[in-house]
Amino acid sequence: MILISHHIAGLRTEGHGNRRADVFNPATGDVTAQVVLGEQADLDAAVAAARKAFPGWAETPPLTRARVLFRARDLIEKHADELASIITAEHGKIHSDAKGEVTRGLEVVEFATAAPELLKGEFTEQVSRGVDAFTLRQPLGIVAGITPFNFPVMVPLWMAPMAIATGNCFILKPSERDPSAALLLADIFKAAGLPDGVFQVVQGDKDMVNAILEHPEIQAVSFVGSTPIAKHVYSTGTAHGKRVQALGGAKNHAIVMPDCDLEKTVDALMGAAYGSAGERCMAISVAVAVGPVADPLVKALAERARSLRIGNGTDDNNEMGPLVTAQHLARVRGLVNSGVEQGATLVVDGRDHVVSEHEKGFFIGGSLFDNVTKEMDIYREEIFGPVLCVMRAPDFNAALSLVNDSPYGNGTAIFTRDGDTARAFTHGVKAGMVGVNVPIPVPMAFHSFGGWKDSLFGDHHMHGPEGVRFFTRLKAVTSRWPQGIRSGAEFVMPTHG
Ligand code: NAD
Repeated sequence: MILISHHIAGLRTEGHGNRRADVFNPATGDVTAQVVLGEQADLDAAVAAARKAFPGWAETPPLTRARVLFRARDLIEKHADELASIITAEHGKIHSDAKGEVTRGLEVVEFATAAPELLKGEFTEQVSRGVDAFTLRQPLGIVAGITPFNFPVMVPLWMAPMAIATGNCFILKPSERDPSAALLLADIFKAAGLPDGVFQVVQGDKDMVNAILEHPEIQAVSFVGSTPIAKHVYSTGTAHGKRVQALGGAKNHAIVMPDCDLEKTVDALMGAAYGSAGERCMAISVAVAVGPVADPLVKALAERARSLRIGNGTDDNNEMGPLVTAQHLARVRGLVNSGVEQGATLVVDGRDHVVSEHEKGFFIGGSLFDNVTKEMDIYREEIFGPVLCVMRAPDFNAALSLVNDSPYGNGTAIFTRDGDTARAFTHGVKAGMVGVNVPIPVPMAFHSFGGWKDSLFGDHHMHGPEGVRFFTRLKAVTSRWPQGIRSGAEFVMPTHG
């Protein structure tokens, strides 16, 4: 049996302890490996290596750090297929989709190669006579990232390049459900010339997460996962004096206006609802149909949902792969059952979909509900599966209120040809990422990614300018030189002039 290890101080290691978890190929249902579930001693070893590496890395000029990232960038591109295959084998998503994930992660590495520019401070000459002031951003020290199963390459790369470029030592705790990609990333960073201890991987489950949150030497924690765990990570991490950004779950709504281009809107909703089997934090799970567009929208979506090509992610002709685990499959089926019991109209029923020759895989078909209401579990819960709920609203204002009343505020979109409506939406909607005729408005690496309300706890979004701020602390220097004006001892609060 393959054993998936840690990557500590530049080496793959099984570490201490003997707890293990099975890792599955979701398309076949087979156990393909086991991952070590680390314990305190493993984290301590990683922190010790980071402590040793930090002074040298923090003193390394940003330009030199950037050169390491340039080499890592090339190596990630070279290994993109391999990374995508690892993602498909453990997560299940289609290989081409997995490659898209790698590309979106690569873009953050590319952004981080601008470290010398990103770390430029501000300078004000002559804040007082003969006195200058400037600000700089310095690394925090040892920082950690805790990531979810659904983007095993992209989400670690939202964090690590930013942390490393700004001079920190980064410890990654990937999801125990698809832990292999993190090890290849560690090999790549090492091959790029990153000193040992600057990027490390500790495997584990909630015990490792809690050890990270309580570790006195870890200065900051960057987390992405479900809302209940994000809340726990934020409250525990901050209670232990850490800087925390904790991105949580989502229930992303798309408002469909009667004046939209229906064909393009249906295309967009199909990809956004069913791509990656709905296991995306930016998936559209609720379509709010305004007025007369509802009937033609549901009809067109139903035709398409019935004909989704579902199968092993290794075949790029498929549009949707399996869910990640048997437990998750059971949960998604259970939620579809609850929708039927609670009175929603199940227009397309994917519950019993079977993929031939993959009968033990964790597959489910695409499901489509109509007439969904706010009280139903399928509306209140993040399903995180290929289930699209259509709700009907009489007008734009009612649709907008529905979006704004949601406890989540990650992504949202509107489909319309009307500029006024689009503007009213982008201005008034309470969500962190907004699309106009763009179903999954994931910001590019040079902007920042993050939601509002229960979709993010903390002050900073991820990567882009916000990532630089999160992984650095600000220092403001005021300087005067002896040959400047002498005024004797001053006992009052200094003012300019
Ligand atoms: P999860 O919350 O179960 O796990 C995330 C991480 O937390 C994993 O590393 C896991 O080991 C750890 N963890 C799990 N249970 C824990 C516990 N009880 N105590 C401490 N740590 C624990 O999330 P997941 O199922 O891996 O990923 C899917 C979720 O992530 C969805 O809710 C999705 O919306 C969310 N997500 C959000 C974003 C975003 O940007 N907002 C991006 C991707 C995924």
